[in-house]
Amino acid sequence: MQHYLNIKAFIMALALLSAFGLFFIRVRRLRDLMQAVQGKTDFKLDRVAARIKVLFTDVLGQSNVRRKPMAGYAHTLIFFGFLAVQPHSLELMIKGVFRNFEPGLWMPAVYGAYLYAADILALLVLIGFAVVLYRRVLVRPKYLTVGMDANLIILFTSLIIITFQFINAFQTLLPTAAHGFDYAGVFPISERLVSLFNLNALTPTQIFAGYEISYYIHMATILGFLIYIPGSKHLHLLAAVPNVFLKPLEREKAMITTDIEDEDAESFGLGKINELNWKHVLNLYACTECGRCEEQCPAANTGKPLSPKKIIHDFKHDLFDQAAPVLAKDGEAVEPIVREASPITGDVLWSCTSCRACEDICPVNIEHLDFILEARKYQVLMEAAFPPELQETFTNLENQANPWGFNAEDRAKWCEGLDVPLMMDAPDADVLYYVGCAGSFDDRGMKIARALARVLQRAGVKFAILGPEEACNGDMARRAGNEYLAQMLIQQNVETINQYKPKQILTACPHCFNAIKNEYPGFGAAYPVWHHTDFLFDLVRQGRLSINGKHLGEMTFHDSCYLGRWNGIYDSPRQLLRAANRGVKLTEMPRSRDKGFCCGAGGGRMFMEETLGTYINVDRAREVAATGAKTVAAACPFCITMLKDGITELNRDIAVKDVAEILDEALS
Ligand code: SF4
Ligand code: SF4
Repeated sequence: MQHYLNIKAFIMALALLSAFGLFFIRVRRLRDLMQAVQGKTDFKLDRVAARIKVLFTDVLGQSNVRRKPMAGYAHTLIFFGFLAVQPHSLELMIKGVFRNFEPGLWMPAVYGAYLYAADILALLVLIGFAVVLYRRVLVRPKYLTVGMDANLIILFTSLIIITFQFINAFQTLLPTAAHGFDYAGVFPISERLVSLFNLNALTPTQIFAGYEISYYIHMATILGFLIYIPGSKHLHLLAAVPNVFLKPLEREKAMITTDIEDEDAESFGLGKINELNWKHVLNLYACTECGRCEEQCPAANTGKPLSPKKIIHDFKHDLFDQAAPVLAKDGEAVEPIVREASPITGDVLWSCTSCRACEDICPVNIEHLDFILEARKYQVLMEAAFPPELQETFTNLENQANPWGFNAEDRAKWCEGLDVPLMMDAPDADVLYYVGCAGSFDDRGMKIARALARVLQRAGVKFAILGPEEACNGDMARRAGNEYLAQMLIQQNVETINQYKPKQILTACPHCFNAIKNEYPGFGAAYPVWHHTDFLFDLVRQGRLSINGKHLGEMTFHDSCYLGRWNGIYDSPRQLLRAANRGVKLTEMPRSRDKGFCCGAGGGRMFMEETLGTYINVDRAREVAATGAKTVAAACPFCITMLKDGITELNRDIAVKDVAEILDEALS
């Protein structure tokens, strides 16, 4: 026996050294890659207390994971169960080498309580796996990654838990003197295995052999898993927690700004994988391939070649495939991201509507848009590669500061007869109403702008517009990758706005709202900015609008991505609709609020042909029609156009109105 235990100690010491050695070599390579990439980040490790709180809510509380209840609860069971067994597994590892290691003798009560809890939690892992298998084998959602990697992980982890419980079961049958701690009664689940498999009937030698076999399988699986993790999708076990800890703490965010005047810059945007920054790489490592982003993505849902899950996977594999030149910091030898045989193609990049559904749902806070929009930026600025129809839009923006090419001088024509002053004539106005291109030139948008102006006048709001001094907010050009043009437009607006130093800015377009509120401060114009839904609801609350409360029939509301997911405004438009449409229920669509489905116009897609897959707006229009509502309300001129087109395509008689128009009707 003594001889056997010496051999076991030797084998275990060798196995532990080899496995941990290999693990550290693989992890060090991952770290080296993070250090070798050359992109810059302005990330600062601030608000540490808030970040620690995030660890409690998002990691221990599993709040993000459980937004998808069945899969989320299964993950929670697996997460806590797996964590719970690790200290005992570690103890067993040490015991394999140092057989006199007996932590159970130091604090027997605490140790016994821990083993009791871990034994129960281990069973929860198996219950969690049963749910996972049910989803993978029977439900089979198409966004779930199935394959050898996923199967191996399930096999590894199940084996770890099953052998853990057999070790515990055999341990209760081994003589106490052999280990020093009395295990009787501390394994409420594992002890059932004794009666279930009639282990009591085994001879002492067989019991010892059973323990040792379970032990070796347990150790081989754990150590194999340890080596496997850094190269598998379970790399997220190492990267997810730091990624969540370092996540952006605010929902609102600006797009990455490129210094286009940097004369030393060799390239703009993201052209090669070595141009990522360390935080991007951590994002790539953190992906669990859970597919939640793909499930929400309007592009993936309508047959486009883009899947946010896959693009993150593809970026990660491009990094691994090109690790040698990246580690050697040989930028010349690194191949472009978009190249022949690369799964990341122009069609993939241009399919994105920048709706942010992927980022919002991602349980580990991956920022897909940093990758997609930066890659677009490179394509436009460095390769002049973009959908050909965008050329005319870019030219129009450059020449007339609006995407349709209307005469910039006509920007205030929409309000003819409404007595709306220009800021140059009323610089002391309480509110600068930034109208935007749709409100200024698009027929449908102009109606919304006029309705809003009427409502503001009824409430006695002293507002003025910029008129011909206003330019496009730059959002469309930025999201379409033309950072140079976008910054030209932004600078023009910033200079104009700063000249008036308005008390507050109001806009009825979520794209204008997002750009001016979240991006203009970075260019030197920081003012209080309102979206009209919040502003109007505030007027209603102040009692400055007397609503007749018409019955406008059953309604549903479509959340604009740039209002909801980008800026967290979900309630004001609904409150306004309830106030304006008394007594009538607002029927929610299945995909609403933070899971709202994009209209298809964001990210510059409003000005691109939708040639791949099916139409996003028609898909959304079908969902509108299924509610049975007579009116669909929205709070974005682009959503209004897209929904109207979708509903016309379906040949349905459903009115599409902005909340300002509905309020305007309710006041008349
Ligand atoms: S990016 Fe996030 S949501 Fe998408 S598969 Fe990876 S972990 Fe899941
Ligand atoms: S932003 Fe929207 S369209 Fe783009 S990848 Fe994410 S979910 Fe898909």
